[in-house]
Amino acid sequence: MDYFPTFMNLQGQPCVVIGGGDVAARKAGLLAKAGARLTIVSPELCAALQAEAVAGRLLHLAAPFAPEHLANATLVIAATDDETVNRQVADTARAQRIPVNVVDQPDLCSFIMPAIIDRSPVVIAVSTGGGVPVLARLIRAKLETMIPSTYGELAKLATEFRDRVKARFGSVTARRIFWEDVLQGDVAEKVFSGNIDAGRKLLEQALQQAEQGTRNLGAVYLIGGGPGNPDLLTFRALRLMQQADIVLYDALVAPEIVDLCRRDAERIFVGKQSSNHALPQEDINQLLVYHAQQGKRVARLKGGDPFIFGRGGEEIETLVEYNVPFEVVPGITSAQGASSYAGIPLTHRDHAQSCTFVTGHRRDGAGEVDLDWPSLTRPEQTVVVYMGVGQLPEICRQMIAYGRSANTPAAIIERATTSRQRVVIGNLQSLPDKATEQQVKAPALIVIGSVVSLHEKLCWFKTQ
Ligand code: SAH
Repeated sequence: MDYFPTFMNLQGQPCVVIGGGDVAARKAGLLAKAGARLTIVSPELCAALQAEAVAGRLLHLAAPFAPEHLANATLVIAATDDETVNRQVADTARAQRIPVNVVDQPDLCSFIMPAIIDRSPVVIAVSTGGGVPVLARLIRAKLETMIPSTYGELAKLATEFRDRVKARFGSVTARRIFWEDVLQGDVAEKVFSGNIDAGRKLLEQALQQAEQGTRNLGAVYLIGGGPGNPDLLTFRALRLMQQADIVLYDALVAPEIVDLCRRDAERIFVGKQSSNHALPQEDINQLLVYHAQQGKRVARLKGGDPFIFGRGGEEIETLVEYNVPFEVVPGITSAQGASSYAGIPLTHRDHAQSCTFVTGHRRDGAGEVDLDWPSLTRPEQTVVVYMGVGQLPEICRQMIAYGRSANTPAAIIERATTSRQRVVIGNLQSLPDKATEQQVKAPALIVIGSVVSLHEKLCWFKTQ
């Protein structure tokens, strides 16, 4: 480590900035935020600093730099455009062991300034050792998107309760568990959604329940994991996946996505694999209830969106019956993923004014595909069939029998959005044979309608 990171208490401390331009103003602004008592040494001031001086928020010494300006300073920043002056400031400060920063000249600095993510009282500082400030800024931009802007509010709220929580929980471990729950659970989610009062109420409630020994921390997060590409998860999905103690996931959820769950979370596979059967839906519902009642935070991770052919509704009905708290996180449904990644818009002014999602799954796994064919064969619409690979020939035959032209473009998209995506293009007549030739397997979606003709022009996603 080339630099030792610390956070300095500058409240009421005399700090000196040498220079009066825009850069000096930015540095002065940061020092003022930290409560420093500011002196600016510069023959002239830019408008921003001038205004601060007039308002009495800083002391202006309208003079060229002289060593005595640093007397008693806690910290000094040189921000002039004169190298000789900057070096003089650095030398004087170092001789007196005053921490000094010279803007853009790491070799003259005894400390450097990090890129800052300010969620006061939470502050994150990022440094690349002064060598690659742009990289520090890129990292900051990443963190900015990952850390809700309301984190500061959460920290303030937690601080309000600090003493009471300390008094309630004798052991450090019990306190840690309580805070982990509060800072990652319902309280945090309320604050993040902007409702700080509701967060405060929940926190009050949690503390009371802890006092009465009635606190049950369990909850279920029904999370849409998207079509397969981990990049397509939502921030909220990722956050809740990293909080959950247990993850129940289906076969459709890619291993790379399961990997993003908390490292020490228990993982339970509840999907179907060729060798064995899927857990019956009723058993999954009961498992969710059981673990939540044990006080666990359970992530129920599903492919695509939980409410689109995902039986999410059924799972939640059970949770409601048992009074288990839950949240639903939408995911990108595979039709959307496939549409984008195959370059087949689902609607288009020249082709389709509506889009219908149907399932090709037969109710008991046998018999005919039972769909409302007359409505599906109306022109100017796109039909997307989930779970239809096995029934592709029958679906195409019915569409033609009910009046859609055999030339209607149709596609089958396998493992959409992933590096193994395959798109097979044909029409209602030719697609079944093509799919058989190419051995298309589930998971795959069938897209029917003239929008499919746009694929040739719009496909942008290439796999090896
Ligand atoms: N809830 C899911 C759908 C579950 S039903 C969603 O919103 O996407 C399972 C069907 O989804 C599969 O049979 C297949 O038709 C489709 N599917 C899921 N992921 C897919 C993918 N990556 N590529 C193509 N089809 C997919």
